[in-house]
Amino acid sequence: MATYDYDLFVIGAGSGGVRAARLAAMSGASVAVAEEHRVGGTCVIRGCVPKKLMVYASEFAHHFKIAQSYGWTVGERSFDWRAFIEEKDAEIARLSGIYVTNLSNAGAVLMHGKARLTDAHTVQVEGHGTITADRVLVATGGRPWAPDAVPGIEHAISSNEAFHLPELPRRIVIAGGGYIAVEFAGIFAGLGVETTLVHRGPNVLRGFDDHVRAHVAEEMEKRGIQVILGCRHESLEKTASGVVSTFADGHKVESDLVMFAVGRKPYVEGLGLEAAGVALTELGAVKVDDYSRTNVDNIWAVGDVTDRLNLTPVAIREGAAFAETEFYGRPTRFDHEMVASAVFSQPPIGAVGMTEADARHALGRVDIYLARFRPMKYAFAGGDERCLIKLVVEAASQRVVGCHVVGPDAPEIIQMAAVALKMGVTKQQWDSTCAVHPTLAEELVTLREKYMPSELGGIG
Ligand code: NDP
Repeated sequence: MATYDYDLFVIGAGSGGVRAARLAAMSGASVAVAEEHRVGGTCVIRGCVPKKLMVYASEFAHHFKIAQSYGWTVGERSFDWRAFIEEKDAEIARLSGIYVTNLSNAGAVLMHGKARLTDAHTVQVEGHGTITADRVLVATGGRPWAPDAVPGIEHAISSNEAFHLPELPRRIVIAGGGYIAVEFAGIFAGLGVETTLVHRGPNVLRGFDDHVRAHVAEEMEKRGIQVILGCRHESLEKTASGVVSTFADGHKVESDLVMFAVGRKPYVEGLGLEAAGVALTELGAVKVDDYSRTNVDNIWAVGDVTDRLNLTPVAIREGAAFAETEFYGRPTRFDHEMVASAVFSQPPIGAVGMTEADARHALGRVDIYLARFRPMKYAFAGGDERCLIKLVVEAASQRVVGCHVVGPDAPEIIQMAAVALKMGVTKQQWDSTCAVHPTLAEELVTLREKYMPSELGGIG
């Protein structure tokens, strides 16, 4: 039998790679991990974690606004972007350090440098030479993408740069209508930046429930974000006073900064996947089966590089399932059904299961329960902000197949709803759960009347 330097070589020390490497190393296997940037990957370094800190920072503006209704006198306010970024970077460095320590405590060897496969068992790592491994795991994640065909696209930034702007712009145009565009629109607007979001589709957040999409766009506008739909960039032009975005309808908007958030692509460039014989999908992701196995029998891939469900916890679970299967002798595949997700828009979204449209398409008859109301905290302050809750129930079985929440703490609420939906809860069981009062979440277990479209005027 051939001998190798390591039992497992992991390319990429992000969420999925680190979890797999640690678990494999803890089983007694010899494990090496290569990372060309900083340990922690997109989530920790330039994604979920710093983004959430920015969301927190930006939400204070709204809190200050309503504080007066609660009797507070709010004095002069100012926001120090540089000081915040410094603190944020210190926190990210701390978290990245924890990842490094955890890898080392588990016994995995960390190599800083880009790794490239030269065949299925051999990797060259910049600065570390040639290394052989019995198994290889590709966990390189994804990268922001921008349309090169748009003249002047070089004047736009991606989310990567948004985390390190030397200063806050006065005006920003954000292109895209997905998670990142919507989240950053809320962040910048909250921090006082004049924010315009331009999206090619009829509404933001394709893939989410239509009521949720309409509601969020409406609430974003209430927070002062200009949402332009059905429109896309024709060109960008740098001028003495900023960047001029010209849209397909001829309309122009000048801003100090333009950010493109039009999706991410699997990061496969320069990894030597061709040399190792690893097949890609039509969209350029590493093609894997339910066990995250590629077409090459000693190479696996997890996380965004496989472009399945591009969420941190999913990458972690895929990495763990791989380690369980290969190093603990327990064949495990991660179930991609009923995975809840949150969009940290302002207000935020929590969603799990099917949208109404998907359920109608897949299941036929469905019962819909829907409510839109002013949450207590904001109603007291006289605000017009509304939250939305929606349940999608399969009519025949009365199984709750979708739960959608927009409003304060929606991401926290949806985690627990996901437990029930994953277990196959019926509407009757759901309703037998006693409410927690006074909360927003209690409205979810007191939805008795089926929704009829005429009830909700604007969003029916
Ligand atoms: P998304 O895939 O969510 O959204 C991409 C957006 O860009 C869509 O609105 C899409 O429009 C639009 N778009 C695509 N191509 C073009 C084009 N050529 N011109 C104009 N618009 C275009 O990508 P994001 O970059 O926002 O996020 C990437 C992924 O990262 C997400 O899908 C998600 O999985 C993950 N993520 C998760 C977060 C969370 O859990 N909170 C936060 C951030 C990211 P259309 O709808 O018409 O296709």
